[in-house]
Amino acid sequence: MYPYPNEIGRYGEFGGKFVPETLMRPLEEIETAFTELKNDPVFHAEYKKLLFDYSGRPTALTFADRVSEYLGGAKIYLKREDLNHTGSHKINNALGQILLAKKMGKTKIIAETGAGQHGVAAATAAAKFGFKCTVFMGEEDVARQSLNVFRMKLLGAEVVPVTSGNGTLKDATNEAIRYWVQHCEDHFYLIGSVVGPHPYPYIVREFQKIIGEEAKEQLRRVEGTLPDKVVACVGGGSNAIGIFQAFLDEDTELIGAEAAGKGIDTPLHAATIAKGTLGVIHGSMTYLIQDEYGQIIEPYSISAGLDYPGIGPEHAYLHKSGRVTYESVTDDEAIAALRLLSETEGILPAIESAHALAKAFEMAKDMDKDKIILVSLSGRGDKDVHTLMNVLENGVETHV
Ligand SMILES: *Cc1c(COP(=O)(O)O)cnc(C)c1O
Repeated sequence: MYPYPNEIGRYGEFGGKFVPETLMRPLEEIETAFTELKNDPVFHAEYKKLLFDYSGRPTALTFADRVSEYLGGAKIYLKREDLNHTGSHKINNALGQILLAKKMGKTKIIAETGAGQHGVAAATAAAKFGFKCTVFMGEEDVARQSLNVFRMKLLGAEVVPVTSGNGTLKDATNEAIRYWVQHCEDHFYLIGSVVGPHPYPYIVREFQKIIGEEAKEQLRRVEGTLPDKVVACVGGGSNAIGIFQAFLDEDTELIGAEAAGKGIDTPLHAATIAKGTLGVIHGSMTYLIQDEYGQIIEPYSISAGLDYPGIGPEHAYLHKSGRVTYESVTDDEAIAALRLLSETEGILPAIESAHALAKAFEMAKDMDKDKIILVSLSGRGDKDVHTLMNVLENGVETHV
């Protein structure tokens, strides 16, 4: 059995709780509450009911027969997290954490967001539960993601623009943590990926592992077997951890696709595993992109959901132990994969998910026709249409 996290919240040397002293008690309270509720059948039933009745689970498993035939190799199956309410896997976690917050007697949530995807999921969950929701967002991101900012406001959330640093996700996260330190009595901090101090990476994993559990069972029903490979894109790493978890103890090969942006030999990338070094970010020991003085280097990717300068500590461990292979995929490779899937399958994926598709397509070509690749299609591309139009029709980069 896979033993992580251990009792102090570590995955090998990674993870832990690198936070101000004042946050140690709130983190312990969350851990205690979650440990109790995790095995409580009533909590579990409530969570499952929300996912099924509100978000539309179980999500489909689609055999991408036309693109598989076109590539001439392995069979490609897509786990359709894009079909969730709000358009991605993020809602699985937002609903789970808000239910946890409610059980803990909290009435207000704080969230950080980069592109706005997690902010929208958190605002959605807060509206459904009648919670007050404050979303911290870098002012740079507020400017370039105006649609999602307005969407959060329509859902009743307050969006706080953060002006410190570069005005992006890392600054929004720092500000959310600062605010939480002052307001942890009645506020619950709803983190959007498998990042942050323990127990967050663990809690988010537990709320996302339904992706892999469902897919494994669905594939067993149609193919009677396990996939040969599972591929997922990695930002903070929640959809990847969610789909990998069910296969960690199997022989299945696991591949994470991180964003190489303009190329990992340029300054414009978000390839944390390929180019990162050990350090502490947002309360957790992991790999991050930093300069020689320990200052975070602003990451870049055409997909707003992948440009986080760190990576979840469990991924750092899975990389170091060799259980998961991490590959980098450029903007151009992701866009090509997005176009191929759209044209052959009638599915417009999120640019984030297209990073996983690019790797899967490349590998499928060299595999036998009886082999199977399972891809986590983490989200739908509707949110990216404006970016795509600018890049493909006008030759403009909107994101930087
Ligand atoms: C946020 C997001 C991601 C990246 O987050 P992870 O925690 O790495 O899963 C990937 N895909 C979509 C569609 C997203 O919205």
